[in-house]
Amino acid sequence: MQNDPVDVLIIGAGASGAAIAWSLLETRMRILCLEQGPRLEDKDFPSRDDNYELARYGEFSCDPNVRRLKQDYPINADDSCIMPVNFNAVGGSTINFLGHWPRMKPSDFRTKSLDGVGEDWPVDYETLAPFYDMNDRVTGVSGLGGNPAYPDYTPELPPIPLGKLGQSLARGFNEKGYHWWPSDVSILSQDHDGRQKCVNAGTCDLGCSVGAKGGTNFTYWPVLENAGVELRSECRVREILVDEKTGMATGVLYHGADGQVHEQRTELVVVACNGVGTPRLLLNSKSKAFPEGLANRNGMVGKNLMFHPLTGVSGVFDEPMLGHEGPMACSILSQEFYETDPSRGFVRGYGLHSGRSTTPMTYALGGYGIDNPIPWGAEHREIMDNVYPYLAGLTVVCEDLPEEHNCVTLDPDLTDSDGIPAPKITYRLGENTRKMLRHGEERATDILLAAGAKKVLTKADGKVWWRAGWHQMGTCRMGKDPKTSVVNGWGRSHDVKNLFIVDGSIFPTAGAVNPTSTIQAMALYVGDSIKTNIETLFD
Ligand SMILES: Cc1cc2nc3c(=O)[nH]c(=O)nc-3n(C[C@H](O)[C@H](O)[C@H](O)COP(=O)(O)OP(=O)(O)OC[C@H]3O[C@@H](n4cnc5c(N)ncnc54)[C@H](O)[C@@H]3O)c2cc1C
Ligand code: SF4
Repeated sequence: MQNDPVDVLIIGAGASGAAIAWSLLETRMRILCLEQGPRLEDKDFPSRDDNYELARYGEFSCDPNVRRLKQDYPINADDSCIMPVNFNAVGGSTINFLGHWPRMKPSDFRTKSLDGVGEDWPVDYETLAPFYDMNDRVTGVSGLGGNPAYPDYTPELPPIPLGKLGQSLARGFNEKGYHWWPSDVSILSQDHDGRQKCVNAGTCDLGCSVGAKGGTNFTYWPVLENAGVELRSECRVREILVDEKTGMATGVLYHGADGQVHEQRTELVVVACNGVGTPRLLLNSKSKAFPEGLANRNGMVGKNLMFHPLTGVSGVFDEPMLGHEGPMACSILSQEFYETDPSRGFVRGYGLHSGRSTTPMTYALGGYGIDNPIPWGAEHREIMDNVYPYLAGLTVVCEDLPEEHNCVTLDPDLTDSDGIPAPKITYRLGENTRKMLRHGEERATDILLAAGAKKVLTKADGKVWWRAGWHQMGTCRMGKDPKTSVVNGWGRSHDVKNLFIVDGSIFPTAGAVNPTSTIQAMALYVGDSIKTNIETLFD
């Protein structure tokens, strides 16, 4: 079945797909977005149901292998110590993300020059700064200007309250003389732009039913659809088609909501399927011109997968910490150990994020991101009464270095509900990361004790958190050299001149901050570059 051709076809309606659609609006081109997941309304989010916690172990799990919904694709992570997690719907993973919103730092774009590791980005912080600002305005960001860890910028809305937990941890940082700052979050601390401020329900991973969190279902998509961008949900792209003579993309084949396979033709394709979904789609798009997968002449598609390996330490305090109140994004962030210090024995660094205690059932079953339940019986009662309410924690969020053996390939057997091959993850921790994690655990312990904790616990037993594959980067990296990168300095495939990629897969390095603010700033930058180069776009 063939549909009317469009000018721009965007695949994926998450963070990056929405941002580039917004950037391209002013071109007046006909824009269509195909999204494999459904549209969700406020009533679909379980956050206000009595049994909301159960949803975390079913339809609203962040793990697609637990959800197993029609729109999900399974992921074989048997050869990985970290499971990639996501959400597939209009809004993508911003439906269940936590809205923590730090920017990457200037040094993150220059790790090769500064530290001899990773790659320098073809863009720098100064080039991206206006796109960060633009994205913050559409999204609605709360925070405090003047953070000495960054070049100057000031979020539009005041920070969310630190809460008892944040204030207690801040005391520990002060005692040690370490940097900390109220976190930037894409959560509204005040009513803004017709949206309601946060009501502190604390169930952000289950979808925000008041619209205070900066998911693109609340921010970009209403504006885009009003302006005429067409969004077809429940449409899963099977492969991207190419003209074998010209090597240009001509369109896609997709499985529609009607159960039929459709052909959609277009002048320009933008892939925005996240750091695992994007290489999966390209590897599934095999043709005579690209027998190893689209845009993969150099074999780099899927290589250099990076996460943010993570562990956590909790302190047990004398007073209740009220850790389950307020949004789940961290309230304070320390970048004391972010930049390289050769005396530490590793390069690059990590952030220390205040960690909330999660809701009771989730805590009892192992916590957020780990599977390590507390014991049943009398000990269970003791822990829930005398430990859980008194907890305040820090998570250690590490910069991962790009390593080619960490990769996304296609699983030979596993498929999604449309029979399309599923991704397989091969990933192990580098030695640099292991040292960083150990250093971070030790420093977090010192800070918690300095903050007044009477006891310090770790629930991960020396391992990284399993379901901490929230951030997926590097698998279609950008770069100037077509031999070592998949896209050029503004997101265009080296091999296919009308194919662009805009999600975290284009990151050459990972930084040690949550990536979505940078993913969207990059998508706006790519959109801007398309507009600037429109006359010679396919040369
Ligand atoms: C539980 C959780 C917490 C997180 N917390 C934070 C946080 O606090 N701060 C932060 O910065 N980041 C956070 N993240 C990460 C953040 O959600 C992602 O970085 C961001 O959403 C990535 O944007 P994206 O556009 O690349 O992908 P997504 O937002 O995941 O969107 C990709 C979309 O593409 C669609 N798609 C994929 N393949 C196809 C196909 N073949 N056909 C059609 N559609 C397809 C998917 O269904 C999906 O909707 C979190 C993520 C999770 C899961
Ligand atoms: S805590 Fe705030 S941001 Fe999180 S789900 Fe509730 S209202 Fe939304």
